[in-house]
Amino acid sequence: MLHLDGVDKSFKRGGQSIVVLEELSLKVPTGEFLALMGPSGSGKSTLLNLIGGLDRPSHGSVVVDGQSIDSLKSSELTRWRARNIGFVFQFYNLMPVLNALNNVALPLMLTNLSHAERRKRAEIALGIVGLGHRLKQYPRTLSGGEQQRVGIARALITDPKILLCDEPTGDLDRASARDVLDLLQVLNRDLGKTIVMVTHDPQAAECATRILHLDKGRLIRESGSGANP
Ligand code: ATP
Ligand code: MG
Repeated sequence: MLHLDGVDKSFKRGGQSIVVLEELSLKVPTGEFLALMGPSGSGKSTLLNLIGGLDRPSHGSVVVDGQSIDSLKSSELTRWRARNIGFVFQFYNLMPVLNALNNVALPLMLTNLSHAERRKRAEIALGIVGLGHRLKQYPRTLSGGEQQRVGIARALITDPKILLCDEPTGDLDRASARDVLDLLQVLNRDLGKTIVMVTHDPQAAECATRILHLDKGRLIRESGSGANP
């Protein structure tokens, strides 16, 4: 269970404090596929960053499986994030100088696993996303949809419980977006990953089991979706 309780987030800008999230409370049960929608600037990415421990709330708490992540020191938070969270980005954020295999293995560089073990795990992750035959290819030689699947394999490499996806289909055509969404649904249903996905795309939101709408830093509405829980 992921639990945000009374979360506020403000940023300092030009000497002023700008409130970006306000009194936000949210429970995401383990295994849920949640979509977050809302206008540009409504605080969606900020919210993902708080859930993933990339940033800390100004007030309130973020509790994941009983662990209050706000109380962790920054080195502990980094370790916690590496074990528990996988991030998927709109523009993939792959390293152009590394092939698919080495991009996926990158998060394991911080572990003491052997080179052979890192390679084996990256091969398995690329197999899960259907790219077991593309190990040696560089990002520029892959389609957008394939690059995003490499990005998802990289997010899976540490076997995190939670995947945080920020507009994962935002840069893809409809067919590639469909492939990525089908994959996210498999990861949710078959591997039990909890997914929180920010999206503007109604096709993407339909894959979620619940849709939350954010406006000006507040949750304003909840709706169901076409997907069966
Ligand atoms: P989009 O759909 O365009 O990605 P969003 O809903 O993800 O928008 P956020 O990126 O969360 O929006 O930003 C919400 C507000 O917080 C914006 O006004 C943004 O300028 C501000 N903001 C975000 N991060 C920072 C920061 N580090 N410092 C100052 N202001 C910030
Ligand atoms: Mg954003």
